[in-house]
Amino acid sequence: MTPLARLLAERIRETGPITVADYMAECLLHPVHGYYSTREPFGAAGDFTTAPEISQMFGELLGLALAQAWLDRGAPAPFTLAELGPGRGTLMADILRATRGVPGFHAAARLVLVEASPRLREVQAATLSGHAPNWADRIDELPNGPLFLIANEFLDALPIRQFQHGPQGWQERLVGLRDEALTFGLSAPLSQVPDTPAFRNAPEGALVEDNLPARISVAEVSARIARHGGVAYWIDYGGWRSKGDTLQALRRHAPDDPLAHPGEADLTAHVDFEPLAALAPAFAYDEQGAVLARLGIDARAERLARSLSGAALESHRAAHHRLTHPSDMGSLFKVLAVTSASAPPPPGFA
Ligand code: SAH
Repeated sequence: MTPLARLLAERIRETGPITVADYMAECLLHPVHGYYSTREPFGAAGDFTTAPEISQMFGELLGLALAQAWLDRGAPAPFTLAELGPGRGTLMADILRATRGVPGFHAAARLVLVEASPRLREVQAATLSGHAPNWADRIDELPNGPLFLIANEFLDALPIRQFQHGPQGWQERLVGLRDEALTFGLSAPLSQVPDTPAFRNAPEGALVEDNLPARISVAEVSARIARHGGVAYWIDYGGWRSKGDTLQALRRHAPDDPLAHPGEADLTAHVDFEPLAALAPAFAYDEQGAVLARLGIDARAERLARSLSGAALESHRAAHHRLTHPSDMGSLFKVLAVTSASAPPPPGFA
């Protein structure tokens, strides 16, 4: 049993089973035992690899997309350049390097990082030293004004609730105890569930997930963009309306039982983009591979390849494939770009 499993068992004994969302939030962000509070999850030594850690091209192309969107909107100054859940700070470092040559962009940018983990804030400070970032705990602390925002694999880390549609109506999936071990169970029938298309259209027997913090995040960012202008790129794995139980645990690069090692495994869920897109004043949505192709990844990859050889060239080619190919991250990952209603279309979309 992990230390966090003991604490959760104690809590469940005292006050009863907890929601999957409460479980996920404790596992990821518990101040002492939480996954993001204690470890370096990214990269070869960690449990998973994210797109910016795979290749510098990801951040470079999205940085240029943000800068192009800024130019298309009349180069407002000052503006907020924000990232949600910046991890090690790699994506923002690549964005800033790629946009150095865009006249006025850096001078007008106020850099704000929304990050919950004090430990990762230190890593980000080291990666981005020289760029004077500010940190915020929450999206609603972002300054008022034009907002150019990026969030990669942020929404998938937010706590989801799970609901089962059975003969007795809707019940919530809970984490309880059986023989002193954490186990899944169901709540009493519910009189109300969230009012989204996934719930309205669920057949009997379906398990439906709801990510309320994701909806709040996209709603808050959308409201700012509607009022002050800007664009937001949300990149994550998932689909328009993914179905079923997608809660998954990764520990040391291998799938794990989500209840087996609380605090020691990364927990994520597929992102359903349909209820998020519905909150945007205007949006564009496509697969990551298609968006990166339109942003020019093939030409950028060839350019970088010219100065590489041997193992470095091979790993560069593999990274290009991994980010864009449909059998890899190219199709599984989606990009949702949020803009204001009358604005020019966001770069990277047809
Ligand atoms: N974007 C990075 C890291 C993704 S992991 C990359 O692509 O490599 C998720 C990130 O979101 C981590 O930095 C984690 O600490 C942060 N995070 C998770 N939940 C959060 C919350 N509720 N508020 C702010 N940051 C959060």
